Amino acid sequence: MIVILRPDTAEGRIKQLIAQIEEKGVSIHFSRGVHETILGLVGDTTHVDEDWLRAIDIVADVRRISEPYKLVNRRFHPDDTHIDVCGRRIGEGTFAVMAGPCSVESEAQLLGVAQAVKASGATCLRGGAFKPRTSPYSFQGLENQGLALLREARRVTGLPIVTEIMSEMQLDDFADVDIIQVGARNMQNFRLLKELGHSKKPVLLKRGLSSTMEELFMSAEYILAGGNDNVILCERGIRTFEKMIRNNLDISAVPLIKAKTHLPVIVDPSHAAGIAWMVEPLARTAIAAGADGLMIEVHNDPQKALCDGAQSLRPDQFDALMQDVRRRAEFEGKAMQ
Ligand code: PEP
Ligand code: MN
Repeated sequence: MIVILRPDTAEGRIKQLIAQIEEKGVSIHFSRGVHETILGLVGDTTHVDEDWLRAIDIVADVRRISEPYKLVNRRFHPDDTHIDVCGRRIGEGTFAVMAGPCSVESEAQLLGVAQAVKASGATCLRGGAFKPRTSPYSFQGLENQGLALLREARRVTGLPIVTEIMSEMQLDDFADVDIIQVGARNMQNFRLLKELGHSKKPVLLKRGLSSTMEELFMSAEYILAGGNDNVILCERGIRTFEKMIRNNLDISAVPLIKAKTHLPVIVDPSHAAGIAWMVEPLARTAIAAGADGLMIEVHNDPQKALCDGAQSLRPDQFDALMQDVRRRAEFEGKAMQ
């Protein structure tokens, strides 16, 4: 980090500022030019707050040289991270498909879809028991009864389960969930992220509706900083000015996440597209861009779905998609899980 001081700052004030910065555990490289006086901060600047520096009257500007995310940063951890989930590997040369309904609606619906996606080769069963809905009048999920049905579906199919948590207060209820999903709307629920950091549970962290890459990485950093390295990132489309599509799938996020972090990344074409026919072309693009997996919504009767029916594939459509996904993932050198 570089701190540029205002011209003609008194020597005493500079010494005072240097001492204050050094208290934060970094050393200072001092440089006085003809026009500018610059402090170069050397060492771990994670605990040096840019805003604190900007508020000091003798500081003209502050520039960060290194990225503020350290633990998720590939620079400090060059090898790919993989996550083990019930004997299946996510990341590092593998390809995982998490499939199932947007929300768990009934025993017959969940077991039917679970058996179908298992037969098509899915890695995990996804399904929402607690749904973050825009309207309080929309179906909110079967809640704990939905969690119980997910456990039953796991028992019947052997598929690990992925489901969304809404609050840190639910952590005990989620103790036997295989992958805890943090939805787009909770990406910056920092209390929840901190608590997930204290567990060892695999976390699927979805990108917020209008979050930058750096904000996504900083949210993942919260979980790793708590001691939990088991984080999978998920690109699910972002909000733009375009109205013809639910969200814009930011495909560049995939190579960017791969370049900047060591974490696995999956793509959710269902929530990006918002419409079933577009799921397949977006899935193909995601594989070609280097994703480590996909999240796909599947419903036995999309027209009667209580949530996200328009973007849900029928089991036969999912089966056809999986045949193509398998071929493409293997072509990319990834082993299907
Ligand atoms: C979901 O996966 O069902 C979901 C609500 O997704 P998102 O948080 O990406 O909107
Ligand atoms: Mn959904």
